[in-house]
Amino acid sequence: MRKIEQVITPEPVVEGAGVRLKRSIGTKRLNYLDPFLLFDDFTSPNPADYVAGFPLHPHRGIETVTYILRGEVRHKDTLGNSGSIGAGDLQWMTAGRGILHEEMPQDGPGGIAGFQLWVNLPAKLKMTPPRYQDVRSGQIPVIRKENGTEIRVITGCVGKTTGPVKGIAADPVYLDVLVPAGGSFALPVEKGHSAFVYVFEGEVLFPGAEPVRAPALAVLGDGDRVEMKAGGKPARFLLVSGKPLGEPIARYGPFVMNTREEIEQTLKEIREGTFIPS
Ligand code: MN
Repeated sequence: MRKIEQVITPEPVVEGAGVRLKRSIGTKRLNYLDPFLLFDDFTSPNPADYVAGFPLHPHRGIETVTYILRGEVRHKDTLGNSGSIGAGDLQWMTAGRGILHEEMPQDGPGGIAGFQLWVNLPAKLKMTPPRYQDVRSGQIPVIRKENGTEIRVITGCVGKTTGPVKGIAADPVYLDVLVPAGGSFALPVEKGHSAFVYVFEGEVLFPGAEPVRAPALAVLGDGDRVEMKAGGKPARFLLVSGKPLGEPIARYGPFVMNTREEIEQTLKEIREGTFIPS
């Protein structure tokens, strides 16, 4: 059984052109949970916290996973891709050798709710061509248990249900789980894979541990199974796991490579205008 190894209280961070968000991975406290490089929660009822957005910026060597629960994020890149991610939608973007894109959360009366996760790419795929997997809300299967628990399977398998995001090197599982007040939840999780639970509504009780109250990220120790209960209110959380790459990392902002030299090379391409081949 996996136990809680560490509970991270998200840190306030200002990112992009002035977006106020809460970061749980990619900080001094937890720099890297191999293969996960960053986890941001940009939920806010107040558009002033996020409308500045993330104007044109590059990525290389990673995947960025954007999941929206409320509101809308418009995006476009210099390769000609553009679109909108709305409530319940997800975009799994493999930046590979490089993209230059903008991500703009839209002004709206309900504010916005959503997350961005960065997943590392192994050395052999860092320079792979960029790829998007855009998933609409209706394509995400929902498992409904007898006790009222709902599991949205974004990637990975739960029983016979497989999520729509495919072909990711880290063999990730990404689930959005709602457990009713007092309800129990248990699931196998691949042994040896890194795993975390990000609680964003209510509280979650792990056996023998203090309640994990939203917003908080619980890093799980190794094991082949998780078991938990919701507190006195419904609990909603992401359960994410992935295979550690076990490779050296050199990170510099939106670029994550294996060596300093590869970062220097990337910065040189940005300076010289050759980052995106024409
Ligand atoms: Mn980005």
